[in-house]
Amino acid sequence: MTTTDTPAAASRAAEDLNPLHIGRQQLDRAMKHVPSLKQGLVEFLKCPLRTITLCFPVEMDDGSVRTFTGYRVLHSRVRGPGKGGIRYHPDVTADEVRALAGWMTWKCALADIPFGGSKGGVVCNPKELSQAELRRITRRYIADLGDNIGPHTDIPAPDLYTNEQTMAWIYDTYDAMHPGENNRPVVTGKPVDLGGSLGRSEATGRGCLEATRHALARGAVKGLASLTGARVAVQGFGNAGSVAARLFREAGAVIVAVSDSQGGVFSERGLDVKAALEFKARHDTVVGLPGTKTVTNAELLSVSCDVLIPAAMENQIRGDNAGQVKARLVCEAANGPTTPAADDVLRRNGVTVIPDILANSGGVTVSYFEWVQNIENEQWTLEEVNDKLRVKMQRAVDAVLDKWVELNGLVGGGPAATGQLAENRHKVAVDLRTAALAVAVGRVAHVALERGIWP
Ligand code: NAD
Repeated sequence: MTTTDTPAAASRAAEDLNPLHIGRQQLDRAMKHVPSLKQGLVEFLKCPLRTITLCFPVEMDDGSVRTFTGYRVLHSRVRGPGKGGIRYHPDVTADEVRALAGWMTWKCALADIPFGGSKGGVVCNPKELSQAELRRITRRYIADLGDNIGPHTDIPAPDLYTNEQTMAWIYDTYDAMHPGENNRPVVTGKPVDLGGSLGRSEATGRGCLEATRHALARGAVKGLASLTGARVAVQGFGNAGSVAARLFREAGAVIVAVSDSQGGVFSERGLDVKAALEFKARHDTVVGLPGTKTVTNAELLSVSCDVLIPAAMENQIRGDNAGQVKARLVCEAANGPTTPAADDVLRRNGVTVIPDILANSGGVTVSYFEWVQNIENEQWTLEEVNDKLRVKMQRAVDAVLDKWVELNGLVGGGPAATGQLAENRHKVAVDLRTAALAVAVGRVAHVALERGIWP
């Protein structure tokens, strides 16, 4: 049996799932709506500034030596130094890291923080590595990157399968290589006692909550004005997904399903998120949580719910399964979970998608707050961080919804126009992703021209 024997598999095979190609397709859709963008500038904005590929040896616990491949891509420095997480995953590729770096550029522009975009990754399987091996991989990767990262050039952060501990090793390695300087701003997402910001560990999930609440309050989703009683399904129960599940629950939503890499759990009446977190901590998976029905990750995407939060990997909602999504709103906590073919299906079906570069920008926004606190040698209160985050998220949502209304031909913007458009879904020719990218690309292009093409 070949991989294209079923209609779903054939359709998936027909779709180009290379994240870099997907990022470029998304940009092509948006750039049509950015006035007076010169062709040469378009090429510049699409193309990463540089891709660093490293091969480095690491001694394993059993005394053997393995060679690992790591990448660091700087996509843009137009609006400030590169900013972007580092992921550890066996499927990391140069194109994936390039795509993620590009999305960081647009995300930082949309959040209106003074960073460009970058991303890093090491091809490895953290589930099969000890803490000591992960520490040696991290130190060697950072040492070999040398001065290609720095507090004012390119600033890493956590991503898939990296965490506060990884960031502490990164800081320590860079600090050892640059003694006598304030090196704290070289990396964000650090433990709080090492200069991390209060609120950073839950910022991505909290940002999703703020974006969703504000979009609903502005009437962006027909028939769904608030989260009270809304049924929510979350794919991925790591940093982004588990925090989103907890905060959406606290905001009055009912969490009907959650999942991780081993599968998912569903409860018609709603799950106890705290119990799911405790179960996951003990068993390394949510599967088997008492009182729930086991579902696959594919089934989770099609459960009956109001809000679907993909919070795991790229390419989860594709042309072949987007038609099964029953949610009215998709809030993308993950980067790149929805393909362009799926975007078309969802738009036609009247499903609103809060795109990744908007929905999950809470993480990089609080990373920016951490960077500012590190430069000032200050520590803001949790309340201050969360208040500033709410303001940033609301402004970004407003900018995107206003552009969405404008691009769909409704002049004037504002809450009334948003609601009007949501009520008349057949008039929606341009989705929120395209509107968000149009805002972001416009901002980056404007600054590029303001600075002047060098020399
Ligand atoms: P994480 O490592 O903390 O958690 C990942 C979760 O996804 C785990 O529960 C894992 O079991 C699950 N998972 C992995 N593969 C899966 C699959 N095929 N199907 C279902 N679940 C799967 O990672 P994270 O930091 O939460 O990142 C998740 C996503 O959010 C990524 O796309 C990442 O780029 C994005 N993101 C994270 C942050 C952040 O601050 N951590 C910020 C912005 C965006």
